[in-house]
Amino acid sequence: MLLNTLKRYAEGFVSIAYPEYCSACGGTLFRNEESVCGLCRNSLPKTNFHKFSDNPASKLFWGKCLIRSAAAYYYYKKSTDVQAMIHQMKYKGQKEVGNVVGNWYGQELGDSVLFQDVDLIIPVPLHPDKLKRRGYNQAENIGSGIAKALNVELDAKSLIRKTFTETQTKKRMFARSENVEDVFVYQPTLQASKHILMVDDVLTTGATLSACINSIRTVTGDDVTISVAALAITKH
Ligand SMILES: [Zn+2]
Repeated sequence: MLLNTLKRYAEGFVSIAYPEYCSACGGTLFRNEESVCGLCRNSLPKTNFHKFSDNPASKLFWGKCLIRSAAAYYYYKKSTDVQAMIHQMKYKGQKEVGNVVGNWYGQELGDSVLFQDVDLIIPVPLHPDKLKRRGYNQAENIGSGIAKALNVELDAKSLIRKTFTETQTKKRMFARSENVEDVFVYQPTLQASKHILMVDDVLTTGATLSACINSIRTVTGDDVTISVAALAITKH
């Protein structure tokens, strides 16, 4: 690693004054690299779920909500470069990782028959308190990268995350799934879309995304097609 870095300095490909590091492997970035190095771009473990509909990501939503397709870019495992990258993105202020890697993913989604007619991106919102602390929503940054690649709009305002209260439980006003403490309320501000892509960082059980999708469906009914794309998925 050190030898490689010194070699890169000597060759003038990296900035000596302000070296930047790959969020995944920690190696020094070349001047033409952003957030994640080319080596990681080629070697991080992709799922390729967007190439077939009956994949482990979409199976997470069976019986929970109505979707067309679900996919995740990378496999997420502990102590791997994917975990390091997502940690940097969520907790170390490396917000541009979402934009960069989201854009790579968006380019691949655009080549998939399952995702190429997406016309609106909605990121899973953070709770407002968390957003205040962190300063940004990583799902929104990923969504923004995907939206740019697909040349569609990003709507980060219409889906609102609130804390679930006893009163709401009694009134059954909002959609909710098991294991989700927050509630989602959909108040669309943009004109109706035909195929919404919900975006999140890590897909684990699908409970949060299901709650989001069900809250959207309470407004749109079954008229809208909804799909899911996450940056990573835990192994199932
Ligand atoms: Zn790297």
